[in-house]
Amino acid sequence: MSVALVGAGPGDPDLLTVRAARLLAAADVVVHDALVGDGVLALVPPSAELIDVGKRPGRAVPQELISTLLVELARSGRRVVRLKGGDPYVFGRGGEEAQALIDAGVDFEVVPGITSAVAAPAAAGVPVTHRGVSAAFTVVTGHRRHGEPDVDWRSLAKVGGTVVVLMGVAQRAAIAAELIAGGLDPATPVAAVRSATTLDEVVGRCRLDELAAMPIEAPAVIVIGAVAAMRLRGEPAGATDGAVVGAAALISARRTASRTGRERSPRSASGASRSGGTSPRRRAPRPCT
Ligand code: SAH
Repeated sequence: MSVALVGAGPGDPDLLTVRAARLLAAADVVVHDALVGDGVLALVPPSAELIDVGKRPGRAVPQELISTLLVELARSGRRVVRLKGGDPYVFGRGGEEAQALIDAGVDFEVVPGITSAVAAPAAAGVPVTHRGVSAAFTVVTGHRRHGEPDVDWRSLAKVGGTVVVLMGVAQRAAIAAELIAGGLDPATPVAAVRSATTLDEVVGRCRLDELAAMPIEAPAVIVIGAVAAMRLRGEPAGATDGAVVGAAALISARRTASRTGRERSPRSASGASRSGGTSPRRRAPRPCT
């Protein structure tokens, strides 16, 4: 009777841990979030039951129900994998599920995953720390919840180093305004990375005082600080973010297809050609020049 609380990484199945892949291959039932991509789910054996408890607008599965489900599945004697995007304990509510399992006397193990807080910046060629540029990075949520203390953005502006914001797309105007009010230079570089390491990956860059107008969509990681101007991607001179990202996505899609023995669906194939083909600029919110 046990549950494995497993981090699925940022999207590309090649970024799963070896342990995560082993547990998925042996699972009887996999309970997963909306952020877990198709490439990772393709590694679940056909014999295993897949249960999607992803929270989406208009269809929220209460957290208590998910915890109860995990306990019941574990008690039925099946090998349960609870699969969460990125790392289970980085804004994933994994701690609440672990506590519920402990309270119910169910054994569990946690398998850390590569969090989008570092994987998304890396996909854009942005190191979260860099000697002489940034000696620290702070990971914060931009999501406001009623009755909970908000992040003290003005104090954060004084901490220095890189600020990495998850779930910050909807609040980006307020976040930028607060950081500037706290003393951050309005010209501070910003990189926003949506759907990092997937076929839909898009990178946008701007200054902090332009963040409100950047047309980025969730799910995205917003990186604020001097490192956000870096592009450690070995990209050809003059390439835009959109073009390079498209090529990277195609390579990763090919890897996924060969690994799972599946061809990409026409839908994802056309998505790949949109981001890597003729008009990458249209997809990138503010491609660098
Ligand atoms: N546990 C996850 C975070 C869950 S909170 C992790 O460690 O990555 C959900 C937020 O994560 C999203 O709103 C977005 O900000 C970020 N996120 C997760 N996967 C992402 C991806 N592939 N690309 C960009 N942002 C991502």
